Amino acid sequence: MGENRLRFAPSPTGYLHIGGLRTALYNYLYARQTGGKFLLRIEDTDRTRYVEGAIENLLKELEWAGIVVDEGVVLNEEETPVNKGECTPYIQSERVEKGIYNKYIDKLLEEDKAYYCFCSQERLDNLREQQKADGMVPKYDGLCRGISLEEAKKRVAAGEKYVVRMKLPANKDITFHDAIKGNVTINTNDMDDQVLIKSDGFPTYHFAVVVDDHEMGITHVVRGDEWLPSTPKHVYLYEAFGWNAPEYVHLPTVLNKSGKKLSKRNDDVSVADFRKMGYLPEGLINYLALVGWSPESNEEILSMDELIKQFTFDRVSKSGGVFDKEKLDWVNGHYIRALELPKLAEMVKPYLLEVGFINDDIQEERLELITSTFQESISKLSDIVEQSEFLFVDKVEIIEEDAKEMASGEQVPSLIEAFKNELEQVEEVDEEFSKTIMKKIQKATGVKGKNLFMPVRAILTGNVHGPELVNVIQILGKEGLLKRLNDFKIA
Ligand code: GLU
Repeated sequence: MGENRLRFAPSPTGYLHIGGLRTALYNYLYARQTGGKFLLRIEDTDRTRYVEGAIENLLKELEWAGIVVDEGVVLNEEETPVNKGECTPYIQSERVEKGIYNKYIDKLLEEDKAYYCFCSQERLDNLREQQKADGMVPKYDGLCRGISLEEAKKRVAAGEKYVVRMKLPANKDITFHDAIKGNVTINTNDMDDQVLIKSDGFPTYHFAVVVDDHEMGITHVVRGDEWLPSTPKHVYLYEAFGWNAPEYVHLPTVLNKSGKKLSKRNDDVSVADFRKMGYLPEGLINYLALVGWSPESNEEILSMDELIKQFTFDRVSKSGGVFDKEKLDWVNGHYIRALELPKLAEMVKPYLLEVGFINDDIQEERLELITSTFQESISKLSDIVEQSEFLFVDKVEIIEEDAKEMASGEQVPSLIEAFKNELEQVEEVDEEFSKTIMKKIQKATGVKGKNLFMPVRAILTGNVHGPELVNVIQILGKEGLLKRLNDFKIA
């Protein structure tokens, strides 16, 4: 047997959807596991939905996610999409120009497995309305089926508008096997004579997908289960051409927590959004793999290499996979904690710069100190903004009741006094100072434990819980500390 060839075949309609990334990932994992190839084809035959720049974006997001395309549309060094591989081109509109689909449609027409249809849109609309009113499932009534090819060609030559439809045989069961859904059978009487070539001369998705998967030697079609109802049409075409159909794997839909399909209106759906929020590719990929699939080992933290080893289609769930952001945060947090500090510092820097908490010329050491203070508590890079804000505000506000209470203790004025005394004796607050200051205040005031630490933390941060106090003291520095101590007032 030859090598497995799997493909991701997105339409360039805007952005890469998180469900699309999962589809790409499952294709990729299986291709890698079996030593096969992962192809990327662009399905842009619906010219009305084409969005400028969408192909570049798609490819960039895949690259960011760590999914490497072996063959098909790839980015060159200038980040421009180009074709790579023996089945070039891999962009369907370019394949139209080369006449690839015409060659195949002619074959079906000659063999009476497809026919020209000259029905006007108006007739089709009326037909649909009538069928609906009669409680029927709308479908083409076959009016043009009887027109001979010879006559049809004359009408085409005379400039009449047409489409080409598949000529389904009557009352024939079409059966295929899906790795997740099992055997699926549908009778042709319940199917429509699907349009294969549209009036603009472009093939429909259904026709192009079959021709291309065949020409590109695709062995497994792994895609979202919204395509399951279309598959019998594709299987019919494989039979009509006398080709072997690929293996089908229809993936359950990605749902939100309320069990609904992820929607642009209610959910974050674009991979770019997750990237911008500061999810790491490793975290997003690890989590996405688990949406609708679980490894036999039941492990939850899995690198791409581990996923490649452990992935199997038979452990993909039959029902929808729920996208749970809290779980994603948990997984992503794991990867954040595993990062080397200098690397993480470099990654959070743009987030801190953007809100003006730091300047571009910040010393590496200071940036790393700030970063290390939150490495344990952030789930994604952007979290650092919210969590570190108290360090960069002019005035600390003590809002929570327990913080207010701790800051109102009768020992508080003497704590502040002792803290200021110590500060006056140093040029600047260094690590040594930060590590020893609390002991010194304890010594000077006789206050210790909770009564010492909680009020100081409340005055400096506004809260009784939070990151390492030693770090906070060092980051605030002499000026920041004095300002907080001097400004302190309990409302
Ligand atoms: N172009 C289709 C999409 O955008 C791909 C369907 C398939 O994989 O066959 O989802």
